[in-house]
This record gives sequence, structure tokens and C-alpha cells, in this order.
Amino acid sequence: MNFIFTCPEAGKIFETPDFTITENHGVVIDADGRRRLEARVTLDGPCPYCGQRHTYRADEMICPFEAVAAPVERKCQVSEEENG
Ligand SMILES: [Zn+2]
Repeated sequence: MNFIFTCPEAGKIFETPDFTITENHGVVIDADGRRRLEARVTLDGPCPYCGQRHTYRADEMICPFEAVAAPVERKCQVSEEENG
């Protein structure tokens, strides 16, 4: 699965399946009562724009990340179900 990342050096977006979830502390609830994923994602390969291996906070990631790291929290998935 490709995830979308942003190069902070070039300010450009790229997709890659080469990443690792690190420092996964699971879902935490902040002071506002909102849930967020406390984890980091590190690229396994160099960034296509600047060659660095960037690290991102999970809550900076796009929705598909939640579906992988926290299957219980699939709120981002668009339901195809039809009520009827
Ligand atoms: Zn970069």
C-alpha cells in the first residue's frame, strides 16, 4: 500500500510503500478529548526529492495510516454500504 508523504525540504508530495511505524504508543486522548495516534513513521528509503529518510508524526499522516495502525478506528474509511 502506498502512503502519501510530504517532503519538508522540497515541499512536495510523493507516494511510497517503504516506511516503518516506530514508537507506536497507540491511540491516546488529548486534553480536548480527541483521539489521536501517538506514533511515528520513518521512511525505509530515501526521499525522492532530497534523499533524506524523513520521520513523521502519525497525526500528520493521511487517513489510511489509521486503518493500518489502529484497526478499531476506521472512521476515515468511506462506507460503501447502502441503507435500505
Ligand atoms: Zn525530502
